Amino acid sequence: MLEHDIAIVGGGLAGCRAALEVKRYNPDLNLAVIAKTHPIRSHSVAAQGGIAATLKNVDSEDSWETHAFDTVKGSDYLADQDAVELLTKEAPNVIYDLEHLGVLFSRLENGTIAQRAFGGHTYQRTCYAADKTGHAILHELVSSLLRYGTKIYDEWYVTRLVVEDNVAKGLVMYEQSTGHFEVLRAKAILFATGGYGRVFNTTSNDYSCTGDGLAMTARAGLPLQDMEFVQFHPTGLYPVGVLISEAVRGEGAYLINGEGDRFMASYAPKQMELAPRDITSRAIVSEVRAGRGVEGGTFVHLDLRHLGEEKIHQRLPFCWEEAHRHLGIDAVKEPMPVRPTIHYSMGGIPVNTDCQVRNGAQGLVEGFFAAGETSCVSVHGANRLGSNALLECVVYGRRAGYKMAAYVEGRSLPSLDEKKLLEEAERDRAQLFEQQGNYRLEQLRRKFQDCMTTYCGVYRSEELMTEGLERLAELRAQLTEVRLDDRGKVWNTELTEAWELRNLMAVGSAIMTGALHRQESRGAHSREDFPTRDDPNFLKHTLAYLKEDGVMIEYRPVVITRFEPKERKY
Ligand SMILES: Cc1cc2nc3c(=O)[nH]c(=O)nc-3n(C[C@H](O)[C@H](O)[C@H](O)COP(=O)(O)OP(=O)(O)OC[C@H]3O[C@@H](n4cnc5c(N)ncnc54)[C@H](O)[C@@H]3O)c2cc1C
Repeated sequence: MLEHDIAIVGGGLAGCRAALEVKRYNPDLNLAVIAKTHPIRSHSVAAQGGIAATLKNVDSEDSWETHAFDTVKGSDYLADQDAVELLTKEAPNVIYDLEHLGVLFSRLENGTIAQRAFGGHTYQRTCYAADKTGHAILHELVSSLLRYGTKIYDEWYVTRLVVEDNVAKGLVMYEQSTGHFEVLRAKAILFATGGYGRVFNTTSNDYSCTGDGLAMTARAGLPLQDMEFVQFHPTGLYPVGVLISEAVRGEGAYLINGEGDRFMASYAPKQMELAPRDITSRAIVSEVRAGRGVEGGTFVHLDLRHLGEEKIHQRLPFCWEEAHRHLGIDAVKEPMPVRPTIHYSMGGIPVNTDCQVRNGAQGLVEGFFAAGETSCVSVHGANRLGSNALLECVVYGRRAGYKMAAYVEGRSLPSLDEKKLLEEAERDRAQLFEQQGNYRLEQLRRKFQDCMTTYCGVYRSEELMTEGLERLAELRAQLTEVRLDDRGKVWNTELTEAWELRNLMAVGSAIMTGALHRQESRGAHSREDFPTRDDPNFLKHTLAYLKEDGVMIEYRPVVITRFEPKERKY
């Protein structure tokens, strides 16, 4: 059996920042980072536009309190305000720390870190490295971990979280290059396993974003929080869905409908293209529904031409490349076709501000922590502001690392029945290999993704989701009718994709059930049958538990410290 003081599952920004803090606290701690991709291939590497912090390099009147207010207002008042205060207060320090690690932030003329405008932020506070910010940060973090000699299990797939008697004791994991299972036990385990964009059929997320950590947590009997809040990013490149960063609008690009109008004037007259993502995404869908899509189609235009060639190539080189590579469009000369694409998970594994996982409305699980997109602390509530996700990964990754390093002091390793866990893992694989169904994996995955997109998209209703849940139950039953063609042990990606599909379906059930029960519209959750926010009944967090016969829903209160809920106008 593998043994470590601390095991971190996930080599993205949150996992790597947590790992660095563990090593800074005590370099002698026996730490493992486990990732199904190489850490450098984690989805964080794709983050483009930037990371928010009130450095005041551009707007001297900015403050952490304004950043906190913008974040809470953006969240449609569902964020826990104690968590938001920590996020925004600690932001400048974590940025300077990254700078000292060597992250190559873009600069102002005077040599300080450059900051740009982002949707829903009152001031220009988003720090960036051109439009490759995630790449710049992740590479420095991984280099630092290598300097500490951290043990990294890269391209190992974790299949199971073992929780017994309210204690997280270990993991079952699978080496993709050899096909053998191992059990790992640890005094503390962190899940930093990222999001689940692949639940839907059009997404800006990488193929690896399959919600594994969420599904494993739910299968261990623990709740998932606020899963109904799924962020659509307004500007996915049409028709492929890849992201055109908000940085493009931050630099001044326009959204134009089929009639040539800057239609955001009708939806957010003050902030225009820099309104928060939920509002901008709904505006695009509303324009399309009203027949004002470009050429009567299902997209609008993102127009950068007035920014000029130099600015586009200097500040937004990657976005220019994406449009050119996928569609052959030269954004210096032509507008880009865009429409909303699934982008981010506001919900996740519920944690307190030390990243310790909650086991329900009241208690905590011993030895189990979560950070980054897979967690819900909750700083984004019902709608995340752009450039706050990377910040969450770094602030709460650091807090998780520190807390875990302190937590394991004086503790001993838990006991685990290794033989039984390995037998169960082998049996599960054998069953998948033996089942003789009629479906190919890709067929079932496509049906599932279409189901989620059709029945639980930008606009939702009871009628749609009731039908959607029935359809989803049928599709889940069909998992036993999938036939795998590859029964090999070495690099069997079909097998890992089968596990991922099982995870995606578990996550999809939690999303749709939470959405059905939330009879109001708030942030990214927009009900046509309940079009307004309902604070008296729904100013609360949803907790969804996966059960044999469906998903059980509970609620827990929202933490309000200084900002009383108000109507949200931009
Ligand atoms: C295209 C794009 C651009 C973005 N741009 C920005 C931006 O400019 N600013 C901003 O604030 N946010 C941005 N975001 C959001 C932000 O990038 C993410 O929320 C953040 O990077 C998530 O980091 P993470 O560490 O939580 O997860 P990830 O970086 O997704 O890492 C997850 C890790 O978990 C591992 N893992 C998952 N499942 C398993 C398993 N079963 N076994 C073993 N390992 C596993 C993966 O291999 C990976 O190492 C963007 C998102 C997208 C999609």
